[in-house]
Amino acid sequence: MSMRALVTGCAGFIGSHLTESLLDDGHAVLGLDCFNDNYARDIKLANLSRARDHDAFTFLPLDISRGDLQPLVDECDVVFHLAAEPGVRSSWGERFESYLRNNELATQRVLEAVRPTPSKRVVYASSSSVYGDAETLPTPEDALPRPYSPYGVTKLAAEQLCRLYWGNHGVETVSLRFFSVYGPRQRPDMAFNAFCRSALACKPLVVFGDGEQTRDFTYVGDVVRAVRAAANAPGAAGGVYNVGGGCRVSVNDALRLLAALADRPLDAHYLETEKGDVRDTGADTTLARKDLGFAPQTRFEDGLAAEFEWMRGTARARSGRFAVAA
Ligand code: NAD
Repeated sequence: MSMRALVTGCAGFIGSHLTESLLDDGHAVLGLDCFNDNYARDIKLANLSRARDHDAFTFLPLDISRGDLQPLVDECDVVFHLAAEPGVRSSWGERFESYLRNNELATQRVLEAVRPTPSKRVVYASSSSVYGDAETLPTPEDALPRPYSPYGVTKLAAEQLCRLYWGNHGVETVSLRFFSVYGPRQRPDMAFNAFCRSALACKPLVVFGDGEQTRDFTYVGDVVRAVRAAANAPGAAGGVYNVGGGCRVSVNDALRLLAALADRPLDAHYLETEKGDVRDTGADTTLARKDLGFAPQTRFEDGLAAEFEWMRGTARARSGRFAVAA
């Protein structure tokens, strides 16, 4: 049955993929985004270009930490809350205020807007950063959350808001802890985006740490599948689920694959680990498999190749060669 979905953060990396997936399957989407200045507005507009071709897509430029959400929530059947100030490294210092507003206050406002119609499901994009340096790998959801960055603290606070609106008011929240998402349209501040750019431009690239840190990298298409499953899974309300890619990969292993894709050696420079970065992450996805029917489907090498090809395409478009070839 087709539905009308509210997607916050629809112009972002993950939000734009989710929006397209819903539209492609015949659902209507009301997308909200304020073009937060974490990266260029032009990139976010480009993220939306396919969605804008659909008649069933409505876009509203709105800061959800400030605007009136009630009438917008009322006209939708489900809420996918992905809008946030993301990123560990910039969450120190002055910008923390933006993290508080876009992660905590914005989430509280979404939940307040849903409170009068609590059976409307809210899927919240939480993060593996709530774990910090986890004692157990792969990490199950009931591990003690001990964020290691200001960003992680705000994502955990918003997740707790989801949990308590479920406990007190019966708002059907489902929180998904995404692990290092990658793929086409990845944010420019994220490592693979920067690595692909450098590889294509034959420029040196910077690795923070010794490169032996590992991540449970998760392909964006798999994340979209998990998010959509969470909207419908009967027993998931009030739950918290890990969404991981299925295996841990070191940054150095990823660089080796990237060198093969670029067909040239990479000039990697290693700097000190950035504050807030953890050593390893790994998702125990047993619960997501059981309750959401979620299992990652994308092999890491295929997902990285997809991101690399996307970056090659955008680089061509930027340099004008794309227009000539077309
Ligand atoms: P993104 O920055 O590409 O997308 C977020 C979007 O939200 C942006 O387009 C931004 O303009 C918008 N936004 C921010 N504050 C807003 C506000 N107040 N009102 C309206 N729009 C607002 O980031 P992303 O990587 O796509 O992340 C999406 C979600 O997934 C975030 O909640 C993030 O915390 C979470 N997450 C991402 C990752 C990852 O690896 N990318 C990992 C864990 C969790």
